Amino acid sequence: MIHDNLLFTKALPIITEIKKAGYEAYFVGGCVRDALLNKEINDVDLATSAFPAEIKAIFSKTIDVGIEHGTVMVLRNDETYEVTTFRTESTYQDFRRPDQVVFVRSLKEDLKRRDFTVNALAMTEDGEIIDYFDGVNDLTNGLIKAVGSPKERFFEDALRMMRGVRFVSQLDFNMDSETKKAIFLHRALLAKIAVERIQVEFMKLLLGEGRQKGLNLFIESALYSYCPGLAEYQKELLYFASLKNDQNHKLPSPVAAWTLLLFTLEKHEEDVDSFLRAWKCSKKMIQQVKIALKALTLRVKQPLDPLLLYQSGYAIILEVEELLLFLDKPADLTRLEELLNQLPIKDKKEMTVSGFDLVAYFNKSPGKWLGEALDKIEIAIVLGDVANEKEVILSWLSEANEIKK
Ligand code: ATP
Ligand code: MG
Repeated sequence: MIHDNLLFTKALPIITEIKKAGYEAYFVGGCVRDALLNKEINDVDLATSAFPAEIKAIFSKTIDVGIEHGTVMVLRNDETYEVTTFRTESTYQDFRRPDQVVFVRSLKEDLKRRDFTVNALAMTEDGEIIDYFDGVNDLTNGLIKAVGSPKERFFEDALRMMRGVRFVSQLDFNMDSETKKAIFLHRALLAKIAVERIQVEFMKLLLGEGRQKGLNLFIESALYSYCPGLAEYQKELLYFASLKNDQNHKLPSPVAAWTLLLFTLEKHEEDVDSFLRAWKCSKKMIQQVKIALKALTLRVKQPLDPLLLYQSGYAIILEVEELLLFLDKPADLTRLEELLNQLPIKDKKEMTVSGFDLVAYFNKSPGKWLGEALDKIEIAIVLGDVANEKEVILSWLSEANEIKK
């Protein structure tokens, strides 16, 4: 398994060097889980019995990325590797991240503090799997199950409940019944967790291939009622959870995911800002979702037109077309490509007249008229009412009696 994957083979010398210095080192967490599932691996995490100072003594180039949590970044051959000391976490006082981490020398102790059995696997440099909590069995049966007592684990760190439903979606797994019960019991603790961290898990839930399963669990466990802006929307969320695209169940992007969610909650362009700000989304995300929601709302009622394409942009319209399939409406990719090829301009910057040209031509000082005229020209060019040539545009403006010289 190790030799099938470049990420593992590249990291092998790191393990070898740590071992040569007399310590233990393993691949751990998500990479082991995903490799066993034959899924693509994004990054490899390494865990070691060596303390951070000891790791720094072994490698010539390191960066202290999270040294207080035991993570040192090792730089080697233009690659970076995160090496984390085995640790236990103690005294969770406020249902979130531990107050204190204690470095330990035992792999088992480290794996014990991990959230789910499928995430508590380690792999040696020879590809041998170390499985103290029956994670391989749960992986085979497609089960998300807390390590140890689920009630205690969620009480320690309430984010784990969101992580649980996101793994159900991401891996298209089911949740073990005791683990599920514990979420139902402790769901209100989610209110203690920073929204940014909930958002990351929620988005992974929405983008997962088992989205329907994950969402149903998110609703059934009532975790949704502790998330921004969702508490009043159980019925709409159930409808959202039922939406599927027969060709591809996965939502294409975070913008698409938020857009479809807001559409099913019957939100409008003007509601996007406060909703997504409460979720701590970036300004860029909010701006894109606004455009996409407006476009989707129009597209369910009418065919695609050049102005909508121009104003929304190709990338967003492409996602909107894909979202139509989730709403059982036909997408029209042929028309999209046709319209794109026919668009006289794709951006304001391509207009052949500027504000300066208009001021000079009409010999008027700049004012409200100028912006209005530029907007009008832009739309006329996009709709093909006027050619994008300076002379043509200027005489069109005079003829249309829009602006008097
Ligand atoms: P992904 O594919 O999304 O990166 P992952 O399993 O690697 O999934 P990470 O958030 O990168 O998830 O965490 C790496 C590992 O750290 C997990 O596999 C798990 O063992 C452990 N872990 C992460 N967050 C927690 C937590 N809140 N409580 C307990 N263990 C955790
Ligand atoms: Mg990871």
